[in-house]
Amino acid sequence: AIAAADLSHAFGDVDVLDGVSLSVASGEIVALVGPNGSGKSTLLRFLARVRAPDEGTVTVASTDAGGRARVGYLPQQPGFRAGFSAADALEFYAQFVDEDVNVAEVLERVGLADAADRRVGALSGGMTRLLGLGRALVGDPAVVVLDEPASGLDPGMVERLFDIVSALADAGVAVVLSSHNLGPVERTADRVVVLDGGRFVADDDPRAVVESVGAADLQTAFGDLV
Ligand code: ATP
Ligand code: MG
Repeated sequence: AIAAADLSHAFGDVDVLDGVSLSVASGEIVALVGPNGSGKSTLLRFLARVRAPDEGTVTVASTDAGGRARVGYLPQQPGFRAGFSAADALEFYAQFVDEDVNVAEVLERVGLADAADRRVGALSGGMTRLLGLGRALVGDPAVVVLDEPASGLDPGMVERLFDIVSALADAGVAVVLSSHNLGPVERTADRVVVLDGGRFVADDDPRAVVESVGAADLQTAFGDLV
């Protein structure tokens, strides 16, 4: 569904990504893990095509409900116009997709049905992230890129988030996410990719990655935030 080939990128003299390649198939969930500053968000921005790498290519083969190769994207710090209501914020993005969007249904899916009329500026950090998830799902894109979607969510919402992710994959969506939540990632992801020093040090199913990297090192890779 989405393929990145030989991506390299430097900020100043720091090689943040050094020739990494990643393919994610329809229905597959890939979790990107690594310590703070390892380049997860940088890679996810390239996959979402909000910016371009110094070198390498990103190809999206699948199409969304409207027939375009669109990627839904939740940035690590989702921003909204503070004066919009939650529903209006999603309506705003719904303008940019061809198909009819049922904003109430999207809010329901991300657990924000009761917050539809609240000002975005008055939402909590976790609720803002859920709204960002809703924005990434507007228009049913075939590929969804989620940067730390579980960050700041209470345990119940973390479970719900990973349930939503599983349902997306079951519906054939290719999902790439970064996370520091080892437990849900182990349960949900088809593949875990460990990023360190600009390269992938592991790319395998969760069990194999825990075995090859070792639980202690993996804990470090997850940033001790498990
Ligand atoms: P975290 O777990 O904290 O979210 P991350 O793995 O997402 O970290 P990135 O945000 O991709 O890491 O950052 C990787 C490296 O690139 C860091 O050293 C960061 O300081 C640097 N970096 C990221 N964006 C920029 C930028 N726009 N300008 C300069 N340096 C940047
Ligand atoms: Mg990040």
